[in-house]
Amino acid sequence: MKERDKQQTAGDQCAKCGACTAVCPVYQVTGRESLTARGRLHLLNRLTNPASPTFGKIVSACLLCGACLDVCPRKIDTLTPLIRAREQLPLSARHRLPGKLAARKTLASPRLLGGLAALRRQLLQHLPKTSGLWLKLALLPEDYAPEEARPAPPAGQPSGGPPVVSYFSGCLARYLSPDISAATDFLTRRVSGAPLLIPAEQTCCGLASFSAGSRQEALDLARQNIAAFAGHDLPILTSCASCYSHLRSYAALLADDPQWRRPAEEFSARLREFSRFFLAAGLAPPSAPAAAEEADTLHIFYHDPCHLRFGPEKTMEQPRRLLAAITGAPPLEPADGPHCCGQGGLFHLAHPHLSQQIFAAAVRQLPEPSASHVVTSCSGCLLQWQQGLRRAGFSGRTCHLAVLLAGIIRRRGG
Ligand code: SF4
Ligand code: SF4
Repeated sequence: MKERDKQQTAGDQCAKCGACTAVCPVYQVTGRESLTARGRLHLLNRLTNPASPTFGKIVSACLLCGACLDVCPRKIDTLTPLIRAREQLPLSARHRLPGKLAARKTLASPRLLGGLAALRRQLLQHLPKTSGLWLKLALLPEDYAPEEARPAPPAGQPSGGPPVVSYFSGCLARYLSPDISAATDFLTRRVSGAPLLIPAEQTCCGLASFSAGSRQEALDLARQNIAAFAGHDLPILTSCASCYSHLRSYAALLADDPQWRRPAEEFSARLREFSRFFLAAGLAPPSAPAAAEEADTLHIFYHDPCHLRFGPEKTMEQPRRLLAAITGAPPLEPADGPHCCGQGGLFHLAHPHLSQQIFAAAVRQLPEPSASHVVTSCSGCLLQWQQGLRRAGFSGRTCHLAVLLAGIIRRRGG
């Protein structure tokens, strides 16, 4: 069936019940039906000019959070028509909004320009041009510094015992926040007695390319990652929820490629999500009790990444159980349930005002001043919370779940 026919079919299947509209973070702040799954399914059947500004706005103003997909009673694939529509955008339009914004922000701030230049020189000289992190970096604050910075474990197979788990680090943990890689390695040694195997040939998961409609680039990155983890059958652990979600989709992405279909299926089957992995492995704190002052000051708020909240494999209970096992108390809960943080990969660059409005709604759920830490397990969410809370003057710490857990265990002598 042709793409246009599939799109038409999805639109025809829609019962117009509005369940997707009610849960859409973009609708909640704009009230615009045209920017919801229901509105988009019908409009895309009528709009025929991908170069028009209306087409560009309708297909770009989506976080790809999956909330609509999750509630649709007819199980309509609301996202594939959108991704296919993005692929129709002229090349210049695909990157126009993020590129313009990044350039404008960077050029407007000599300090940011200097900071970025220094970052690029010192930290990012090996960052592949295909990494989605380049776009995210353009909006990092001048004083960005990873929490509890520690050296990254060496690439390739480290000495000292054969690894039993391999690691897909993702661009943030690999290039900018090696403390996340180091913390994940520390936790893995604790549960398995061996370091992580970190193939040096791995690259960006390709989610940014896929989301921007650059399908060929996303396919090339997927093949490179599958090849990087070939040659052994170790489980593949990843500490980023968005990477995990996209890596899982490799099997579907390469389903029509006779050479890569089977390797992609095997690759996807080996993936392990961070909190599920460490919960199943029995990660536990040292037997020494926490210092009284630490127990009294740890009030942790866990942000659920949309990529773990929605879809067939919902992972909300596991990070909470893991936090409770290590800290001795369940995390603080948002006042009326989890919210999207508004980052959405390229969404926060293409639609910064919408992104901030959605983030503001998420922050209102934060039980401050009682929260001492905001933690999450997704690179995009982490950057959004770190930047947003810094702007808001939050006095606590914002860090990756791995960094928090490793820090607690280390302080207790683990
Ligand atoms: S993926 Fe999320 S932002 Fe996009 S239409 Fe669905 S609910 Fe709205
Ligand atoms: S939830 Fe599904 S059936 Fe209902 S309006 Fe949205 S896309 Fe249509």
